[in-house]
Amino acid sequence: MPPDPKPTKRAAAILDAVRRAAQQEQFLEVVSAAEARRRFAERIDRSPLGGESLPLAVALSRVLAEDVVAPVDAPPFDRANVDGFAVRAADTIGASPATPKLLVLNAEVIACGVDPVIEVMAGNATAIATGGVMPRGADAVVMIEQTELVEDDALPAIALRRAAVSGQFISYAGSDIARGETLLRRGTRIGSREVGMLAACGLATIQLVRRPRVAVLSTGDELVEPGRPLRPGGVYDSNGAIIAAAVAEAGGEAVPFGAFPDDEAQLEDAMRRALDSCDMVVLSGGTSKGAGDLSHRVVSRLGSPGILVHGVALKPGKPLCLAVIGEKPLIVLPGFPTSAIFTFHAFVAPIIRARAGLPPEAARAAHARVPVRIASELGREEFVLVSLIAADNGLIAFPTGKGSGAVTAFSQADGFLAIDALASALDANSEAEVTLIGETERAPDLVIMGSHDIALDVVVGALAERGFHARTIAVGSLGGVHAASRGECDLAPVHLVDPATGVYNKHLLAPGLALVPGWRRMQGFVFRPGDPRFEGRSADAALQAALADPAILMVNRNAGSGTRVLIDGLLRGAKPAGYANQPRSHNAVAAALAQGRADWGIAIEPVARLYGLAFLPIAPEQYDFLLVEARRDRPEVRQFLELLRDEPTRARIRALGMEPG
Ligand code: AMP
Ligand code: MG
Repeated sequence: MPPDPKPTKRAAAILDAVRRAAQQEQFLEVVSAAEARRRFAERIDRSPLGGESLPLAVALSRVLAEDVVAPVDAPPFDRANVDGFAVRAADTIGASPATPKLLVLNAEVIACGVDPVIEVMAGNATAIATGGVMPRGADAVVMIEQTELVEDDALPAIALRRAAVSGQFISYAGSDIARGETLLRRGTRIGSREVGMLAACGLATIQLVRRPRVAVLSTGDELVEPGRPLRPGGVYDSNGAIIAAAVAEAGGEAVPFGAFPDDEAQLEDAMRRALDSCDMVVLSGGTSKGAGDLSHRVVSRLGSPGILVHGVALKPGKPLCLAVIGEKPLIVLPGFPTSAIFTFHAFVAPIIRARAGLPPEAARAAHARVPVRIASELGREEFVLVSLIAADNGLIAFPTGKGSGAVTAFSQADGFLAIDALASALDANSEAEVTLIGETERAPDLVIMGSHDIALDVVVGALAERGFHARTIAVGSLGGVHAASRGECDLAPVHLVDPATGVYNKHLLAPGLALVPGWRRMQGFVFRPGDPRFEGRSADAALQAALADPAILMVNRNAGSGTRVLIDGLLRGAKPAGYANQPRSHNAVAAALAQGRADWGIAIEPVARLYGLAFLPIAPEQYDFLLVEARRDRPEVRQFLELLRDEPTRARIRALGMEPG
């Protein structure tokens, strides 16, 4: 069809937008990460902010601005540690059950808070409670259990059955905290223990480093505030929340500004307000090359010195933009969540920590073997998030396999490794240095690698209730088979049919591996309820209808998945429209159908139901576990196998629509 010579106004506007979207706005200049840091460091003040005097009640997690010197002793006096009697040790020499020593009691009982008045003279004792002030003359305390009261109306006494040494059961003044001692150093982050020490010294207000106020903004027309319904094409503003939390973790005070549409005027107004009221501004989104690249345009108008870096040769995180306005750092993070949080930790968190008075975070690293090849882009230093697994001969690092758009990649990773800008890949079985992130969680007790299933979460949850921590890494059935045969996991959940026999999973057995039955999941033909082309038909008839009409779009599955083997069996060589669309999970298939991107697909029943889709059963699929025999006797493996047979667990699996066994 020849192009319309006089396009309508609306069509012209659309074409204009398309042209703009296709235009590749170039980064000013892409620099190395080290160069980016250097330029930024040159222009910003990293010294701790001043101190402010605040009540102890708000001191938790804050940083001390000054050394704290103890103004008093703790305990403030020599203190009895047991209930008993204050005595002179010299009087007790030779005391034994056979030859008890008689000590005459003074007419005083020293309870807590009592200031004693009577001196303990030779041959005397004074009753004293735990925490009581030692009276003059006494140098030891004897336990009440070692004494017998000798009742005498005129002169009550005790018979002591054991000798005491000088200093026995006494805490001396200042033995805990000595007056004049430096109790806590500036830069210390205050936890509950520090709060206790400060209170013990009677300090009600302390000097704390003012926390840097960090404005957190997001931009994107698609962003929806958590708590509101997701509209079509919408995405929750997760960066705003994670960055605010990470600011607090780094010792800053996050000031959430919220999410803004990609509108330069609105964004500029918000950024100016943020610069006025805060010490630092962090914006995420609107920074990638191309149409949406408005953040750096806004930043370039805010003042001098302005943008120092726009484009860093690292992955993830290339579109990072570092600026200083007046004295204040302003950072634009890439919108993709993993990129955003990665660059936040690399470039922003260290500044917040420094200004908050905290020492730099000590980088913790571990050595690990990487069993798989990781491709990498030439010319960019690439950081790959990995999960760590303890193997017999050291640590193994597995890429988490989630792209920079993933929200979970960072939280599921134990660390990251770097691939040099000059390398195009990290070869399989390379040794690598892994920089650890987050709190060191204990190594998992059980490693499960293979195909993921929602019922697996039930078993792993039950395992957690028994105190075992399992890590599941979704690498697909075939990935699981490889991991199990290399001994990199304890169990590999698989569901692969042998095309020759139609039998599930048995053909995957190899020496050193056993097959443990899991559960059956019904696979079927899935479509939107009410679709007249499929409604009321059998699965087979629905499939024939789908194949007969070229306007009907399918959604396929990834090669290597058990479901794909089933699909190819059903299609017998046919490649209907949509065949090339190959998402990696049942959920993605269901979402494509529910949102109208495709008309039919093959998925398991529980997932189809979860998305409110219609389901026509085709065949049950067996989901089993390949067990690495060498690990069968580990207690956590035995627990897992026991849970597979446990009736309450099986009932919960059944409730999800699976049939155990
Ligand atoms: P951008 O940097 O604006 O081009 O965004 C790149 C990608 O990150 C897009 O898929 C955005 O939807 C996503 N993204 C941007 N901002 C956020 C945010 N605040 N929360 C979650 N995802 C975001
Ligand atoms: Mg955007």
